[in-house]
Parts: sequence; C-alpha cells; structure tokens
Amino acid sequence: MKFGGTSVGNLDKINNVANIVENEVKNNKLIVVLSAMAGVTNNMQNYLDQINSDEEIENDLVLTSGESVTIGLLSAILKKRNIKSIPLLGWQIPILTDRNHKKAKILNINKKRIEEFFKNYDVIVLAGFQGVNVDGYITSLGRGGSDTTAVAIASAIKAERCDIYTDVKGVYSADPNIVPEAKKISKMAFEEMLEMSSTGAKVLHTRSVELAMKNNLVLQVLSSSNKTSGTLIVDEKKLIEKEIVSGVSYSKNESKITISGIPDKPGISANIFGLLADKNINVDMIVQNISQDGISANITFTVPSSEINLATSVLENNLDDIKYKSLKTDENVSKISVIGMGMMSQSGVAQKMFKTLANNSINILAISTSEIKISVLIDERYTNVAVKSLHEAYNLREKKWVQLGRFSKIID
Ligand code: ADP
Ligand code: ASP
Ligand code: MG
Repeated sequence: MKFGGTSVGNLDKINNVANIVENEVKNNKLIVVLSAMAGVTNNMQNYLDQINSDEEIENDLVLTSGESVTIGLLSAILKKRNIKSIPLLGWQIPILTDRNHKKAKILNINKKRIEEFFKNYDVIVLAGFQGVNVDGYITSLGRGGSDTTAVAIASAIKAERCDIYTDVKGVYSADPNIVPEAKKISKMAFEEMLEMSSTGAKVLHTRSVELAMKNNLVLQVLSSSNKTSGTLIVDEKKLIEKEIVSGVSYSKNESKITISGIPDKPGISANIFGLLADKNINVDMIVQNISQDGISANITFTVPSSEINLATSVLENNLDDIKYKSLKTDENVSKISVIGMGMMSQSGVAQKMFKTLANNSINILAISTSEIKISVLIDERYTNVAVKSLHEAYNLREKKWVQLGRFSKIID
C-alpha cells in the first residue's frame, strides 16, 4: 500500500491511514510506503532554492526529509494499537539506486532483508521517494517518486497487487480538478496509463507505471478517504473492451525551442539532438521543415521547462557548429494529449481532435503521435478550454443511467 502526501497531510489523516492498515493487517503482512505530508517537499525545495544550493548530496538529504516524519508517526500510532510495526528509511532495506541525484533509478532491492524484517514485524512502514547509492549517499527518485518506491518494492516481493491511495477515487478520463464531469475509469491497460502519466496526469509517477508494466504487477489507484473501488491498471489482454479514447491529459511543464536558418544537409538533426542527449536533456515533440528560401531548415522541438536554460546554452555554445540564424524559446505552451487503446484500429481520431481545437480557435504549434496517443502543442492560455472541449468531443463524461422497467438507459 502507498499513501500520498494529502493522505498523510496531518495527524487525523495519518490516524485514518492507521485504520486502513489495521483492517488489512488482520489478513496480510504489509509494506506501507508513505510520502511526506503534502507541501513539505515543496518547502524543502524552496529552502534549497533560497540558498541556491547545487550540492547534490545535501539537496537529496533535505528533499527526502519529510518522509522520515510521516513513517515515524504512522509506525508509532500502529504500535500504540499493538500492531508489530517498524519504520524504515530507504537505506535500511536498502533500496539501491544509481548515482543520478534528484532522478535516481532503482538498481536493486534486497528481498532477503525484507523477509528478515517480516520475521519480527507485521508491518514495514517504508519511506517513499528515497534510496541510497552505491557510495552510501541518500538519493531521491524524482518528484512524485513514492509511487515508484511502492511499485519497486511490491515487484521485489512479488506482491499480488500494489494499491496506491490518493486524494481522488481513481484514474479519471481527465484531471477531475479541471473537468468535474470526468469519469472514473474502472479498468485500463498499463500502456494507456503510461501514456497518461507521461503526458501529464500526475496521479501516478511515470516510472512507477513503467515498472509495473515490466513486472506485470496489477496496480490499483483508490481514495484513502472514500471506500469505493478504484481504478485497476492491468495487462492489456485482460481488458474486455478497449476504449477508442479513454482520457485527455495536459502538461504545462514543457517549453518550445525553434532554431531557424540551419543549412539543410544530412545529419543536422543527428547533430542537434546528439548535443542535447549528451546533456541528458529529454526532447519530446519535433517538427522539422524547409524554410521559404528552400536551402535552410527550421527545427521546432519541446523540452521539459526545467531544462530549457540548459538546452539553450548548449545550442548557443554550439552556434559555430550548427550554424543557425536565430533561436527562439517559448515557455508559455501546453501539451494536450488524447489517449486510448482502441485508437490503434480506428481512423478519424486525430481529425476529431484537430477539428475540435479549430472550432475553439486554438492554433496547433506541433503534433506528435504514438499508436495509442495524439499530442498537440498549444498556447498555454487555452489549456482548460482544450481539455474540456476534447473531453466533451470524445463523449467521455460520466453517463447518467435511468431505470426503464427491466432495462436501463443512458441519458447524455
Ligand atoms: P499523491 O499526493 O497522493 O501522490 P498526487 O497529487 O501526486 O497525489 O496525484 C493525485 C492528483 O492527480 C489528483 O489530485 C488530480 O488532481 C491529479 N490528476 C491529474 N490527472 C488525473 C487523472 N486523469 N485522474 C485522476 N487524477 C488526476
Ligand atoms: N514527497 C515527494 C514529492 O512530493 C514524493 C512523493 O510525494 O511521491 O515529490
Ligand atoms: Mg503523487
């Protein structure tokens, strides 16, 4: 079980988590992964920003500190209820990661140690979001990374399922905070969830979905304050019905770079994107075209907003090599995506997306697609209108059912 920041946001909420754990531990031994209290990791990041700290070891130590508090409090509450519980930090298992501070990858989890703890305890309360690298220093897994801790540990012990408790009742057809009429999805494929997370639906950390898919570990997203069933995320083969479009997501965390007037010859893209890859910069959407003079090319692409400064300095430092005429950046863009497994075998899905945006006078700046996703880049100001109108266009909102004798009917 994993509980996110809002689910452990104060003592009342931690007591509520203790109730859920107390109920479950009657039947099973449990690993309970916790986040820091909501807002705490942001506060820690603010402190680090104020002192302009670029010390990787110190930064990850400070960033991951909030989780110590919540695991300590929950375990103490459980012990008062006579439940055999032990709070553990990442290094105590250990959750071994690479040296990539701030976005460390888990390399290995020692299953034997977990089994040893289970000889003496019924509940392990484990700090999410943190690991320890091969040099013995604390690392963090990237913001929202507690989900990944939970999935990694569940995979390591070959758990039957990993339950992610959060502040919404499941995964919805769009962020319920933007589209109140969004529908809770009862079952979806790993691939769909992966596309949703990676295009902005922060309800699950992208890497947690990747890992669950790799290990074929069923995930459930559910509410910690409401006892209704959540969303199951399963292998595609277990889906009876594949929705053409199951969700709409958005991300405001991307920025656009346009470089124009590059001499058009083979190898320019390989050169530019090679330089960016060398600096570990993730490039997402790419549009390349020939400029009006027919001899030079323009390339537009997106990078995470957090990497825009690094990306521009890499390009500026290599001006002599790339030989472009101008470089423009735009941080006020937003990526809107529609996702669905059934899209693979259906035509006209993209056309509907483009038409809906056009009807709302929203201009498309770039497009990218996969088998089960279409993404467009637009002006950030139109994010909400775009998400809401696409949600409506694909008819995703919660349907109302009325009883008609023995049958029921949907009213739109
Ligand atoms: P936690 O602190 O429990 O990890 P997060 O804030 O990381 O919770 O994730 C839950 C939030 O994800 C919700 O409050 C919701 O606003 C947001 N969200 C974005 N897209 C979706 C979606 N498609 N379905 C459900 N929640 C979504
Ligand atoms: N506390 C960390 C964060 O806020 C990890 C998490 O909540 O998943 O990013
Ligand atoms: Mg989260």
